[in-house]
Amino acid sequence: MKNYPFLDLARSNAPLIDELKAAACEVIEGGRYLHGKHTALLEQELADLCQVKYCVAVSNGLDALRLIIRAYREMGMLQADDKVIVPANTYVASVLAVSDNGLVPTLCEPREDTMNLDANCIESLLSPSVRAIMPVHLYGTPCCDEKLLQLARHYNLLVIEDNAQAIGAVSSVPGLNGTKVTGGLGHVGALSFYPTKNLGALGDAGAVVTNDERLATTVRAIANYGSDRRYHNIFLGLNCRIDELQAAMLRVKLRHLAQETERRNAVARAYSQHIAHPQVSTPAWIEGTTQVWHQYVIRVKGDGARDRFRELLQQQGVGTDIHYATPPHLQPCYRQFKSYKLPITTAMANEVVSLPIAHPITPDDAQEIAHIINGINL
Ligand SMILES: *Cc1c(COP(=O)(O)O)cnc(C)c1O
Repeated sequence: MKNYPFLDLARSNAPLIDELKAAACEVIEGGRYLHGKHTALLEQELADLCQVKYCVAVSNGLDALRLIIRAYREMGMLQADDKVIVPANTYVASVLAVSDNGLVPTLCEPREDTMNLDANCIESLLSPSVRAIMPVHLYGTPCCDEKLLQLARHYNLLVIEDNAQAIGAVSSVPGLNGTKVTGGLGHVGALSFYPTKNLGALGDAGAVVTNDERLATTVRAIANYGSDRRYHNIFLGLNCRIDELQAAMLRVKLRHLAQETERRNAVARAYSQHIAHPQVSTPAWIEGTTQVWHQYVIRVKGDGARDRFRELLQQQGVGTDIHYATPPHLQPCYRQFKSYKLPITTAMANEVVSLPIAHPITPDDAQEIAHIINGINL
């Protein structure tokens, strides 16, 4: 029986192994392990990719988000107890970044079709204490629509993009800066290079991208003990630097990112063309956008059907995963949100299944998996 693992990072990275080894050796032999040339070049390359002026490479995606909010606090643009609208169906890290800084997450339901923030829901949640929106381009689908941007402009809200899952995605509408590339749509964006992300490091890494020079400078200082120059600390800072080794790994992988996005699109297209099961719905393709398919997420309807579905697929060699089984408001750390009525988010959490999409899965594999799915009797 053929096996289709959900994820196998060693195999995903295998095609680049010689380039990665050469870059790692260069760093090891060069003796500069922080603040080196690869970090500076990676920042330039990421800024270009997101079509913004500044990039600060940091330790991971959650730190990127935490640093952004902390920097806005230092700049007097956000304060303790300010509210930030966050999608209720995101990975918990988006919400943690808000809480960590003494701000209050305001959970917003997604749209059924895009599984991304619903601008009408955002509008219904607005109040004078709401100071920012955090769009999350979930699963690699750009999330900022015209209405979200209008609300941000009209109510003077900061737009902090959690672009952990959508590096290189292109929105159908230009963002606040005129670019359509995710990460560059709002006032600032956070990137994650967690190993499973579309651009994955061989360990932890992340980045902050923005056109706001003061914000970039503030983030850079906070991430380096709060110092603006050596042994001079203007903030009660942190250590959130990126390793030079990871920067070098990421620069190798960045050279192949466009090809990786194309491959993911081809696999996603094969799934969407061939899956036809009465209890399964496939994800939306949003016209005018480039989706980067961090995950290909289907929904399986029916009481308890999702678990049976996964079990039957596993029996036929198809690995799957769930992103995410427990939404933030039902996590023990967010007891205060437990009673919130978030029916769309809760239903999604019970129905979503992520299909294999990372290399080495091919479009032919996706077609075979689709046929296995179509033959499943729930
Ligand atoms: C991965 C992820 C993060 C956190 O990034 P790390 O690098 O793992 O800290 C934040 N938000 C979303 C939506 C993510 O998928």
